[in-house]
Amino acid sequence: MGGDAAAAGRPDSSWVGLLVEEIAPAGPLAHLRDATLDCVHCGLCLPVCPTYRETGRETSSPRGRIHLMRATAEGRIPLGALLAEEAHLCLDCRACETACPSGVRYGYLVEETRAAVARAGLRDGTATRVERFALRQIVARPRRLRALVDLLWVAQRTGLDRLARIFAPRALREVMEAAPLVPPRWTRRRLPALVPAHGEKRGRVGLFVGCVMPELFGDVHAATLRVLARNGFEVTVPEAQGCCGALHAHAGDPDFARELARRNVDAFAAAGVDWIAVNSAGCGASMREAGLWLPGFGDRFAASVRDVCELLDEVGLRAPEGSVEGTVCYDDPCHLVHGQGVREAPRNLLAKIPGLALVAHDDPTSCCGAAGTYGLTHREMASAVLARKIDSLAAVDPDWIASGNPGCLMQLRAGARAAGLRARVVHPIELLDFAYGGTAT
Ligand code: SF4
Ligand code: SF4
Repeated sequence: MGGDAAAAGRPDSSWVGLLVEEIAPAGPLAHLRDATLDCVHCGLCLPVCPTYRETGRETSSPRGRIHLMRATAEGRIPLGALLAEEAHLCLDCRACETACPSGVRYGYLVEETRAAVARAGLRDGTATRVERFALRQIVARPRRLRALVDLLWVAQRTGLDRLARIFAPRALREVMEAAPLVPPRWTRRRLPALVPAHGEKRGRVGLFVGCVMPELFGDVHAATLRVLARNGFEVTVPEAQGCCGALHAHAGDPDFARELARRNVDAFAAAGVDWIAVNSAGCGASMREAGLWLPGFGDRFAASVRDVCELLDEVGLRAPEGSVEGTVCYDDPCHLVHGQGVREAPRNLLAKIPGLALVAHDDPTSCCGAAGTYGLTHREMASAVLARKIDSLAAVDPDWIASGNPGCLMQLRAGARAAGLRARVVHPIELLDFAYGGTAT
């Protein structure tokens, strides 16, 4: 140590400079090295990590994965099968970000790692190719997605899906088993282009529609329009919008995700709205990060994005005239509580519904195992993670379970049904809609 530095109790900067030079970043993760240095190895994230909780393996923990990323970024190990596997075993739930006292941007690290894994061809099996095809050619194309959902609806109504589960090849069987019950077609009708505000107007909102939501949760969209209008918002539904690209980014396809984000930035800029309301937590989290993909105008777009519960809580909910009887457990979608830092808003709104008692369960902020396409690619881990969640909900046995993300709603419905829970699993906005006198309870 040099004299001055030693006297001040800090390392000599010339030595630090030499050390940094010796381990200069290299290879496909070089750009992540500085971000990995934020991890101080404290381990506070380990107890909240679902894959660590299930396996007990350091390499399946946030700290272990970051260690592998850093070693790869510094060229000490090649980008290989272990990191590829661990980056995809991770649910990208970002619970570790909330737990981390050091501000590690884990979501950014894991998505960049997955993109590098994809570029290196380390995950190039049939399942990966099918996933990529489905995400690019079906999920991002509304007409094709609608046609597929229609087919699924017919298969479920006629019992063909049960036959497929017996005779189809394993991969198709697994998709059919994981498929949610498709709602009637009338819930999938087009939304109105404009809904006027009730009473004094508080602003103009653009509703983000997404890809899966209109097909499987059309009733949630309809409820969202009604509740926003009841609260004084004029709501527009821009025709030119599309899929947000979150699933593509999670799967290691950031270029395609960027293209999709650009289309939405343009669509909402043309709509002239004060806020963009999102009722799907996964989409909202990715839209709020548009600045990462599209610096400058992506930042302006991101600043106007609000989860619908967050927006209503921010402006002040108009008191519902009606009531909803029973108890409700709110379960935090990871990409709302960890990805967007929104924890209290949905609870505040639910607490304002006359007749409804908000009761806590033990494990509201841990992942339910949905995580985009994770249930298809990692069925065993997804089921284990879901089982913990359902155990925690079963201990309370509420009348309602509320969660604001389509993947979570599907996963929790499947888990609640399998466990014989009596609770109805709904979006918080549906409970508000019931209280305003929307559709039947
Ligand atoms: S994102 Fe979730 S699953 Fe992945 S390392 Fe963090 S806590 Fe674990
Ligand atoms: S909590 Fe943060 S700093 Fe601590 S080990 Fe986990 S990622 Fe690293």
